[in-house]
Amino acid sequence: MRLAIVSDIHGNLEALDAVLADLDATPPDAMVCLGDFVGYGAAPNECIDRLRPRIEHAVAGNHDFAACGRIRLGYFNPDAAKAARWTTEVLTAENLDYLRGLPYSVRWRGALLVHASPMRPEEWEYVMTPNDAGVEMDSVAERLCFVGHSHYPGNFEIDGTRVLYSREARMRMREGCRYLVNVGSVGQPRDGDPRAAYLVWDDAANTLEHVRLEYDVEAARRRILDAGLPRFLGDRLQWGE
Ligand code: ZN
Repeated sequence: MRLAIVSDIHGNLEALDAVLADLDATPPDAMVCLGDFVGYGAAPNECIDRLRPRIEHAVAGNHDFAACGRIRLGYFNPDAAKAARWTTEVLTAENLDYLRGLPYSVRWRGALLVHASPMRPEEWEYVMTPNDAGVEMDSVAERLCFVGHSHYPGNFEIDGTRVLYSREARMRMREGCRYLVNVGSVGQPRDGDPRAAYLVWDDAANTLEHVRLEYDVEAARRRILDAGLPRFLGDRLQWGE
C-alpha cells in the first residue's frame, strides 16, 4: 500500500493545499498526521478542517497541546508563545476539543507514530543525531518509527548497533534493519529548503520517498503579517529555516 505521512503543518494552508493537491493526483491508500497542525501559521482552523477528514490517525504535537492549554508556554520562545496565544483565540471550540483529544503515540500498520521522541513523547525532545536515534529505537517494539518535530527530513537506519543517517529522497529499507524516519514539515521546513515536505511509505515495496513541493510562500507569509503575527514567522518561510 501507498501510505502518506504528513507532519508539522503549523497553520500553513498554502503549503497544505499544495501537498493535498499532489496527493489527489495519485491518491494514497491511507494518510496520517504526526501533529503540530497549528502554531506559527495564520490558518489553523482551515488546516484542521482540510486534513481531519482525510487522515486515519493523528498524534499530538507540542504546538497542538499548547494551543488547547494541555501544556504551558514556559519553554516556547517569544514568537512561538505569541502565535500560540493567537491560535488559542481563533480556534473553534470543536477544533480545540479535537487537539485536546489527540494521543501521544499510535501504532499503525506495524509502525509507531509519534510527534517528537518515541521514548518520552511528553518531553518533546528532538531526535537529531544517529546516537539519539539508536537510543530512542531501543524503546520501540516496532521495526519502523515515524517522527516529526525537528522539521528536518531524513532517515536513521539501525543495523544492530550501527546507525546510519541518510537524507536521500528515495530509499529501500533493508531486511533486518530498523528505521527511525523524520518525515519533515509541510508548513515550516527548517532544512534550508523552503519547499513543503511529506513522506510516502510503500509497505509492500518497502520504500520511503521524501517528497518536496513548491507552494505559494508569499501568500502564506502575507497571511501571517495580516493576522498581526510576528514578522519573523512569515519571513522564515522564504528561507526554509
Ligand atoms: Zn513543529
